[in-house]
Amino acid sequence: MSQKVTILGSTGSIGRQSLEVIAACGMEAAALAANSDVKRMEEQARQFRPKLAALMDEAAAADLRVRLADTDVRVVSGEAGVLEAAAFPGADTAIAAIVGMAGLRPTLTAIREGKRIGLANKETLVCAGPLVLEEARDYGARILPVDSEHSALFQCLEGCKDRREIKRLILTCSGGPFYGRSAEELSGVTKEDALRHPNWSMGAKITIDSATLMNKGLEVIEAMHLYRMPPEKISVLIHRESIIHSLVEYCDNAMIAQMGAPDMRLPIQYALTWPKRVSGGPSKPLDLWNCGTLSFGEPDLETFRCLALALESAKRGGTAGAILNGANEAAVGQFLAGKIGFLEIADRVERAISQVPVVQDPGLSDILEADRAAREAVR
Ligand code: NAD
Ligand code: MG
Repeated sequence: MSQKVTILGSTGSIGRQSLEVIAACGMEAAALAANSDVKRMEEQARQFRPKLAALMDEAAAADLRVRLADTDVRVVSGEAGVLEAAAFPGADTAIAAIVGMAGLRPTLTAIREGKRIGLANKETLVCAGPLVLEEARDYGARILPVDSEHSALFQCLEGCKDRREIKRLILTCSGGPFYGRSAEELSGVTKEDALRHPNWSMGAKITIDSATLMNKGLEVIEAMHLYRMPPEKISVLIHRESIIHSLVEYCDNAMIAQMGAPDMRLPIQYALTWPKRVSGGPSKPLDLWNCGTLSFGEPDLETFRCLALALESAKRGGTAGAILNGANEAAVGQFLAGKIGFLEIADRVERAISQVPVVQDPGLSDILEADRAAREAVR
């Protein structure tokens, strides 16, 4: 019987690549959910014939219902519709690929149905890591990382029989489009400059996060929760080529690295097929013989202050992650809307962090409140 998959955020970068993997590996798309992209959702529904298609936006969903009237795809709308897709009983697996905090409730809903979760939505773990992982344990939902660094760490840890042997996790970081620039040189960069990532083609929000290096900071917090490691045992290594996706250093100083072409379809596929590996997927082999030199270096925490702010938040724990993330989502939104400059993203995040109090051992309501207050501080 083929694996049946729900894609939360199907019209986005990860969602579309997930559908490519599903098609190539002979899996089934059981339910699709997205925000408002009717055209793309119609195309996906016609190609994959899911049982259910959900759009968050009510008007877009109404339009989709008309467009799909000649099919047997059931169209649902609003948050209830997205949650219905997340809980869809006809799927055994859910790819969590909604961007931002908006992905938290749908991910929790899929977890409570005990599904395998291919987790791309890192903001969910940054805001509510302990809560999400506890629910996953309680409901028997296996979380498999889709983020390439975390998939790499997962693979490097598969041979580890005793966690005490882990010295540290090393997350590689491309450095983004502005690597090597000074703060002065960054003050005038535009949205178009920031959206031009050297190695990866991704959604707008994560592309900006990759330019500020906030993405790497969020990933440190994500790794901290996923692998239950204190922040001081997680390091960031600049590696411009994105060939080594991350490493684990063990107590005997051996380092295990995972390599591959920079192609998200590989970690997506492994999250879907684990513990097996299958051939025939859409990703291309890595030609190490012709890939040139690999380089390594230190991140510049003074210029890329978002990374420093995230590392601080990782140490503070509690709702600090939700405050950092909420402020960052709001500030990136303002930057994309042309309302603030690139360097002001870090200013806004710093202001929110200094204004919103941190609550330790938070429940869901504390997390939602921290997110709200952080967004308000940015505004
Ligand atoms: P994207 O902007 O391309 O896609 C986001 C998707 O979420 C879209 O389908 C959109 O319709 C949907 N969405 C947004 N708000 C929604 C809502 N309220 N309800 C339902 N659907 C909603 O983003 P992306 O680049 O695909 O990233 C998705 C997630 O994966 C992010 O958390 C990102 O950090 C993570 N991630 C992405 C990559 C990558 O290469 N793109 C790599 C690692 C991790
Ligand atoms: Mg990543």
